Amino acid sequence: MKAQVIDGRAVAARMREEVAEEVRAYTAQHAEPPGLATVLVGDDEASAVYVAGKQRACEEVGIRPYDHRLPADVPEPELAALLDRLNGDPRVSGILLQLPVPPPLDGTALTGRIHARKDVDGLTAVSAGALALGHEGLRPCTPAGVMRLLAEAGTELEGADAVVIGRSNLFGKPMAQLLLAANATVTICHSRTRHLAHVCRRADVIIAAVGRARMVTADWVKPGATVIDVGVNRLDTDPPTLAGDVDFDAVSEVAAAITPVPGGVGPMTIACLLRNTVRAARLQRAEAAPALRGEIA
Ligand code: NAP
Repeated sequence: MKAQVIDGRAVAARMREEVAEEVRAYTAQHAEPPGLATVLVGDDEASAVYVAGKQRACEEVGIRPYDHRLPADVPEPELAALLDRLNGDPRVSGILLQLPVPPPLDGTALTGRIHARKDVDGLTAVSAGALALGHEGLRPCTPAGVMRLLAEAGTELEGADAVVIGRSNLFGKPMAQLLLAANATVTICHSRTRHLAHVCRRADVIIAAVGRARMVTADWVKPGATVIDVGVNRLDTDPPTLAGDVDFDAVSEVAAAITPVPGGVGPMTIACLLRNTVRAARLQRAEAAPALRGEIA
């Protein structure tokens, strides 16, 4: 068997077009576009690149970006006051505090100040609780992106055995909740899981988010399974290359569908952030956002 390779770049591009259309409709209706405020603290180069990418992506779909930058030694009350101001600013539909923030700032506590209706990363306790309880809310971007990829691949989730490897608050836990909401039977694995290969072998869907290059090998995968690779591992090759958590070449001989790294899950994250921003704008106006394909709202 040669697996279908799920093209995350193409799906993300389509999703951005859908969002641009949504933004046009929203802007025509309300005479102003949705806005996304990014807050970057300190001068970490990688974080600055991520924020610049998010700002650019906003402009491309017609979302108005607001760029806030603060020095690494900003007092926590000052940063908290900025987040409070953004919470109250009607032009700002979504707020994104770029993590990690430099110590001694408390990224979790600061993120927790963001109002749930502006929490476009979907990472506050209120958003996580809404997801767990099946209430309306903004969902974390990377797991939401995976749901869309599964829908695009035509993977049946209802009643399927799904294994998520990784239990982080950022990805593993919300991923498991979204799969559960889609009626999959979900197993969450982690570093203390016994017989991980055995658990994976019975899965119809494997989602790997560990951070260990090529850990999932072909003998872990049931023939015909869908394998989603969230891992991003920088290999010390010359030139440096990226690898996922899945041994792509070998697993593609067994799986029915698989995501590559790069070009699989990665491009979906910003596309989902844009979608969440429009949804946030509508939530604040108490309007229902039209459902998009593969979405469990
Ligand atoms: P994390 O917080 O480090 O969590 C890693 C998880 O993997 C933990 O739950 C850990 O278990 C588990 N784990 C570690 N070693 C294991 C092993 N040998 N067997 C089974 N489980 C093991 O990482 P994360 O933030 O969730 O990210 C995971 C990966 O996804 C990273 O490579 C990250 O770069 C990537 N990622 C990509 C995107 C994107 O593409 N946009 C977004 C998010 C994350 P314990 O809980 O027991 O320690």
